[in-house]
Amino acid sequence: MPIDPREPYDDTNIFAKIIRGELPCDKVYEDDVALAFNDIRPQAPVHVLVIPKGAYVSWDDFTEKADDGEIAAFMRSVGNVTRQLELDGPGYRLMVNMGGHGHQEVPHLHVHIFGGRPFFQMIPD
Ligand code: AMP
Repeated sequence: MPIDPREPYDDTNIFAKIIRGELPCDKVYEDDVALAFNDIRPQAPVHVLVIPKGAYVSWDDFTEKADDGEIAAFMRSVGNVTRQLELDGPGYRLMVNMGGHGHQEVPHLHVHIFGGRPFFQMIPD
């Protein structure tokens, strides 16, 4: 079920538990502002999630409430992950699902990185 992005941040969500170390993840990258790990149900040869360590429900929440420095640092982190994964040569796709129409299921902002093959269709049916 997609989340309601207007709900307050729920610090019992699964990604909050991963950040606190209460649940494991298959970590690929970490810095001061971001954590990246392999998606548990990969939909491409490379499927990594990058999440901010700050408590943000969604892309909307993050871009409204985070300060410029945190937003810039998080953008840099996403780029660091794609370069670490050596996707900068072949290319990749980024995706952020937001709220109901975006079919966001976990109420903590996450950027999907898809790679390892070409993606021909912009938006699936
Ligand atoms: P979204 O629909 O954008 O909210 O995507 C949520 C993503 O989180 C899905 O691709 C799930 O497979 C992934 N996911 C859920 N739980 C975990 C977990 N414990 N570790 C890694 N990925 C997860």
